[in-house]
Amino acid sequence: MMSAKDGNNKKVKKEKIPRTPMPQQDPQVRARNFEEVATGYSEEDALREASRCLQCRNPRCVKGCPVEIDIKDFIKLISEKKFEESLEKIREKNTLPAICGRVCPQEDQCEKECILGIKDDPVAIGRLERYVADREFKRLSDLDKECVYLDGKHKCTREKVAVIGSGPAGLTCAAELAKKGYRVTVFEALHKSGGVLVYGIPEFRLPKAIVQKEIDYLRSMDVDLRVNMVMGKILTLDDLFQDGYKAIFISTGAGLPYFMGIPGENLNGVYSANEYLTRSNLMKAYKFPQCDTPIMKGEKVAVVGGGNVAMDSARTALRLGAKKVYLVYRRSEAEMPARNEEIEHAREEGIDFKVLNNPVEIIGRDGWVDRLKLIKMELGEPDDSGRRRPIPIKGSEYELDVDVVIMAIGQGPNPLLTSTIPGLKLNSRGNIAADPETGKTSVRGVFAGGDIVTGAATVILAMGAGRKAAAAIDDYLRTGKW
Ligand SMILES: Cc1cc2nc3c(=O)[nH]c(=O)nc-3n(C[C@H](O)[C@H](O)[C@H](O)COP(=O)(O)OP(=O)(O)OC[C@H]3O[C@@H](n4cnc5c(N)ncnc54)[C@H](O)[C@@H]3O)c2cc1C
Ligand code: SF4
Repeated sequence: MMSAKDGNNKKVKKEKIPRTPMPQQDPQVRARNFEEVATGYSEEDALREASRCLQCRNPRCVKGCPVEIDIKDFIKLISEKKFEESLEKIREKNTLPAICGRVCPQEDQCEKECILGIKDDPVAIGRLERYVADREFKRLSDLDKECVYLDGKHKCTREKVAVIGSGPAGLTCAAELAKKGYRVTVFEALHKSGGVLVYGIPEFRLPKAIVQKEIDYLRSMDVDLRVNMVMGKILTLDDLFQDGYKAIFISTGAGLPYFMGIPGENLNGVYSANEYLTRSNLMKAYKFPQCDTPIMKGEKVAVVGGGNVAMDSARTALRLGAKKVYLVYRRSEAEMPARNEEIEHAREEGIDFKVLNNPVEIIGRDGWVDRLKLIKMELGEPDDSGRRRPIPIKGSEYELDVDVVIMAIGQGPNPLLTSTIPGLKLNSRGNIAADPETGKTSVRGVFAGGDIVTGAATVILAMGAGRKAAAAIDDYLRTGKW
């Protein structure tokens, strides 16, 4: 038996049950296929894990969730085997549970706050969230009712609202507005909706069929999704207002890749992570020539960066057939911004971590990448980001044989749309200046949220911004007050 204090400082006795591990594919096997790495809880696993929750009177976990899901209640419903009700409970606050259950950094959010985490492992909240969402998808497909969640019953009749960009911020804002009865049109530049969820995060972490099901759910709420609409080029904001849209939410993300500015970045075989992942995920280049888009697979690949984008690129390169994949990061592993789980998975699959190393030049032969020159680094005092500053060690340069280099050092806002909006205030990095509580911008009737406001962040923060903006748009359209 173990004794813990719940959120109300009362002692609760529970049998100590270890955190239920996530079943996953064997690292040797999965490193060469694109199937999902984590295969998901069984009902038995979910019930066991749910039984670990202390049902605190004052649940700290909820405070750690950016969209404040009623975590304690949805877990209780699982332990009562009320799986559909549990999903409904989650959907009150989160319209994309199957996605969040897979990609949210729970270890830094709800699970970080879970009371059990003080002396033991926290409840696996994300895995339980994923379980109830997947279970419902399975139930619906067994019924052969793929996208009729609401049976076309939900009809929107209120004012027209436009959402630009269909990533998690735009999809959440659209769903929340549709729930309130607004007629929402989502305009997406690419040929598929979903933003980074479809073009960035690979299949083996987030199957595209799962994203599609969440999008189908949205469609069943009477949301109109229009693809191949590069806004700012095809239509401007003025065109939308003239067409009767009463408010506009901009959620165009951070899709413009950064490069290091070192010699050799123009060589053939150098990719931005954004292009590399888009080719593989969205355009299915791994199936070339059956699919039209090619990709340079590479025998020896170097990925530069230490975030989720770098891990995804390295693990994709391995699955595309590279014999050796290096991950080059200028700080130490402790400073890596990627989720711990992703770092662990990458290591298990055989990615060679070159930490405390920084590229100084990409060396070519006949116009193609041939070698990567690196310099070794050491850590100095913390910089503005709070992380210890990497300092080059003089004379420590050396070269690695590589034929593909992927730059995954960050991405920023694309000015294609924002540059066409007169009076729209941007910050010094080119992100839209918007009120963090409402998403209001400097232009009346125009709201913004997600990565286009915050810079590259997380799925759940983008969703939180979409939710807040939907509430503010509703308020604006009801009161007319700006
Ligand atoms: C490879 C990768 C892995 C990641 N892994 C994780 C993870 O594991 N966990 C996590 O929480 N976060 C992760 N992130 C970050 C997360 O995906 C983003 O923070 C989140 O998607 C931002 O959502 P958004 O809606 O603001 O923008 P996005 O998802 O970027 O969506 C913006 C959409 O707007 C569209 N658009 C852009 N310009 C226009 C235009 N002019 N007209 C019409 N449409 C336009 C784009 O095509 C895109 O579809 C990852 C990011 C990447 C790139
Ligand atoms: S998940 Fe953790 S913090 Fe939340 S109610 Fe259960 S035990 Fe308490």
